[in-house]
Amino acid sequence: MKLRQSAAVAAIAVLALTATACGGESGNAGDKPGGGAEGKDAPKLPTYVVAKDVSIDSPVLKKAQSAGKLVFGAKSDQPFLGFEDTDGKRSGFDIEIAKMVAADLGFAPDKLEFKTVDSNVRETAISKGEVDLYVGTYTINDERKKQVGFAGPYFLAGADLLVRKDESGITGPDSLKGKTVCSIKGSTPLQEIKKPKYGAKTIELSKYSECVQQLLNNEVDAVTTDDAILKGYAAQRPTKLKVIGKPFTEEPYGIGMAKDDKALRDAVTNALEAHQKSGDYKKAYEATLGLSGSAYVEPPALERY
Ligand code: GLU
Repeated sequence: MKLRQSAAVAAIAVLALTATACGGESGNAGDKPGGGAEGKDAPKLPTYVVAKDVSIDSPVLKKAQSAGKLVFGAKSDQPFLGFEDTDGKRSGFDIEIAKMVAADLGFAPDKLEFKTVDSNVRETAISKGEVDLYVGTYTINDERKKQVGFAGPYFLAGADLLVRKDESGITGPDSLKGKTVCSIKGSTPLQEIKKPKYGAKTIELSKYSECVQQLLNNEVDAVTTDDAILKGYAAQRPTKLKVIGKPFTEEPYGIGMAKDDKALRDAVTNALEAHQKSGDYKKAYEATLGLSGSAYVEPPALERY
């Protein structure tokens, strides 16, 4: 426990330096670097050995091999998770997960293409083959499994609330009666918060950064989604925003892919397992998501089906 606390304190210290250097309190949502380690003492991102001569009986992989590139769907406005800066550089924990899996499938980082795909169109993008794999805070659930396949879970998050720093009336999901809460179309926390028992009014947008902007502008009282995502926004604006810290759902993250491509699903699960065992996963976490103040915890057990 002590170790974890000191790791978290160190991570916050690194982050504070990074945020100062980047001017992270500008007031605009989503316009600052936010996906990886910066500064000379920051944890370093691992590099991944690229497998050679990969041969798997997967239609998606074969198509990617003949195209010479593997296409990932990802988020672009989630600091420390899936973030695209103004130069088009992607960073964050989900981006590292994509890179480690891709390496085991035989694709070096320069053979990866990332496409931004928001929550409400993920299943369509995967089933139409617009992306080969999807890594973007994507909760595995039975409803989605009817349309897509999942490898994982590789991380366990939980829905939480982001509020303005001076908010005292909102203390958890049970204090939302009459409050206006912003979340994202096609996301599981939105489905949850719409339940009548919370009594909240909801605003539904396409991008989390738009919800955060509305919160900063006093247009909504709270934003709900996974704690891992919200902590990234709070870490970017520590004097303006805070996370309540009482998760009220379980959100196990998976890598989405074509529903019936079992060979690909198995290969991606094997890759996750190998990188967890080698320590790459932990290193990648500490150099990305760990910097937003969430101490490392062991990942949940991978499920094979
Ligand atoms: N993990 C949740 C979901 O998959 C919320 C985050 C997101 O929208 O990506 O719906």
